[in-house]
Amino acid sequence: MLIDSHAHLDSPRYADDREAMLQRAAQAGVEAVLAIGIGEGPTEMHQALDICREFNGQPGMPRLYASAGIYPHNAADADDAALAELDGLLAQPEVIACGEIGLDYYHDGAPHPVQREGLIAQLKIAAARKRPILIHCRPKDGETDAWDHLFEVLDEHWASTALGGVMHCFGGGWEQARRSLDLGFLISFAGNLTYPKAQPLRDVAARVPIDGVLVETDAPWLAPNALRGKRNEPAFVTQTAQTLAELHRVSADDIAAATTKNFARLFNLTV
Ligand SMILES: [Zn+2]
Repeated sequence: MLIDSHAHLDSPRYADDREAMLQRAAQAGVEAVLAIGIGEGPTEMHQALDICREFNGQPGMPRLYASAGIYPHNAADADDAALAELDGLLAQPEVIACGEIGLDYYHDGAPHPVQREGLIAQLKIAAARKRPILIHCRPKDGETDAWDHLFEVLDEHWASTALGGVMHCFGGGWEQARRSLDLGFLISFAGNLTYPKAQPLRDVAARVPIDGVLVETDAPWLAPNALRGKRNEPAFVTQTAQTLAELHRVSADDIAAATTKNFARLFNLTV
C-alpha cells in the first residue's frame, strides 16, 4: 500500500472524473493521498480540504488528507486576511501540513524578497499550529541560490520547532538532500525520477536512507516517463515507487511500507 504525498486533487483537470480518478488510485494500491491546498491563489486554499470532506468515508477510495498554503509566486497575496484564512485551515484536523510554500527562482513571478517574507509569515503560523511544512524549492538551472536562501530561512525560523517537513518534488543535489535530512525533513521524489535524463537525481535518491524518503505524483503535472506529457494522477505513483525500489535494490512492497511509515511518523498518524 502506497501513499501519494503530494497531488493537486483540486485541479480543474479532474473536474469531469475526480471520483473515478480516486477509485483508480485505490485500485492501484494507493491507500492515502495528501491533497495540496494552494489552488490558483490564497482564496482557493480551502479546496483540498473540501475534497477531503467530500470523499473521505466513501468505500473504494484512498484516505485523503489536505494541506493549505500560499505558493511562492502568490506570496504577494499573503496579506493579513489570507494568513488568517491559512491559520483557520491549519486548525482543521484533516489539514495536516502547511504547503506547498517555499522559494521559486526558476519562473518569473513574485520578487525574491516577497517570496521570502511570505514564507516566513507562513512558517510562524505553521509552527503555532504544529503542522509540518511542504517545501517547494526551485533554483534556476545550474544555480543553488534558492536552496541557500531556503536553508537560511529554515535554520532561523523553523529548525527550532522540530516539526520537520517534506522537500516536495526534490530536485537538488546530495548537499541539499543531506541538509534537508539534518533538519528532520523527508525527501519526496516525483515522476521526474523516472525520466531518462534524471540520472543525477537517481544517484541522489539512491543515497537517501530509506527512512527518509516519500513518493508523490505532483499530479496533474509530472507524469512518469511511460506517460510523460499526459495528465498525471495518484494511481501512477506506483511507477516512481518502482524506480526508487530499483535504486535501493529492495522490493516495491518495501518502498511502499517504508514511505507509508515515514509519512505516518512525520504527521503523527496511525495509517
Ligand atoms: Zn505541487
